[in-house]
Amino acid sequence: MKAPDIQYYRPVTLGEALVQLSDETIDCQPLAGGQSLLPMMHLRIASPECLLDLSKLSELNFINKTDSHIEIGAVVTYSELAASTLVQQHVPLFSLAIPHIAHSAIRNRGTIGGSTALADPAAEMPALLIALDATINVVSHAGSRQIPAVEFFLGLYETELQQSELVQSISVPIAKADQRFGFYELTRRHGDYAMAGTVISADSVEPYAGMRIVFFGVGEKALRAPGAEAALNGCRFNDFDALKQAQASLSNFEFYEDINASEPIKLHLAKVTLKRALTNLVRENS
Ligand SMILES: Cc1cc2nc3c(=O)[nH]c(=O)nc-3n(C[C@H](O)[C@H](O)[C@H](O)COP(=O)(O)OP(=O)(O)OC[C@H]3O[C@@H](n4cnc5c(N)ncnc54)[C@H](O)[C@@H]3O)c2cc1C
Repeated sequence: MKAPDIQYYRPVTLGEALVQLSDETIDCQPLAGGQSLLPMMHLRIASPECLLDLSKLSELNFINKTDSHIEIGAVVTYSELAASTLVQQHVPLFSLAIPHIAHSAIRNRGTIGGSTALADPAAEMPALLIALDATINVVSHAGSRQIPAVEFFLGLYETELQQSELVQSISVPIAKADQRFGFYELTRRHGDYAMAGTVISADSVEPYAGMRIVFFGVGEKALRAPGAEAALNGCRFNDFDALKQAQASLSNFEFYEDINASEPIKLHLAKVTLKRALTNLVRENS
């Protein structure tokens, strides 16, 4: 099916883009990589009156390092993230996970800002940003605000973003020397959206400390798992009782049935991906 007729703007400055978005008389949606929005328009799942193409906004296209963070502009693509030496050195979790996001053609166009704004419950990026304790920097004509990732994702395709706001950039803390990361997802075929996945960041692994464990593909949004974190913190990797307790704590999640699996199957898959992500955490970093 073809997309409906719509208005199209391609501003060259962020200021122009924000003025356009502040016009409440027209439903204007940002267009980043178009890998989700354009198929949704073709299928009539999304029907904006106008598209605001972000591709010429050099102000959103950068990867910078500060003393404490890597700052990533919203229109940076997955492929650019994977190729960045700053990201490879300081955000190693992205290097582990990005090869699992879709296929190379989609990674060449899909952006970090697009995935963040979309908040697909099966997408990797929201879970990665929560595990990394990242901050989403949001801007509108009225000003800017910084939102911790754990507060940004509200529900199924629902975020803190207001209609007039853009994701401007993402701030990711630089990985500490002892910090370790784990990632595991189950998909029907490599590159498909995950049926279930687990992302882990740990301040150290001998014993586990400062764990941040996040699931995706199992609920209405990426879900942090404080019960599993509490069960594992202070324990060693071969403590199977702690693993069992962590897995048991997942029963408290609100699982979400989708085309892949029922809620009980999602619980089972979450337990499996937790165990395998923990195994990666030790193996990848020892
Ligand atoms: C076949 C296929 C397989 C895929 N598999 C996966 C997968 O395994 N994992 C995965 O995570 N994704 C997957 N995707 C989706 C892909 O990662 C998309 O690129 C991503 O979800 C959206 O990024 P985008 O830049 O293309 O955003 P767009 O499609 O351009 O936009 C998505 C939404 O975000 C809004 N938006 C975009 N940028 C901003 C911004 N800066 N500020 C505010 N709002 C903004 C848009 O208005 C729109 O509502 C797949 C897509 C396809 C077609």
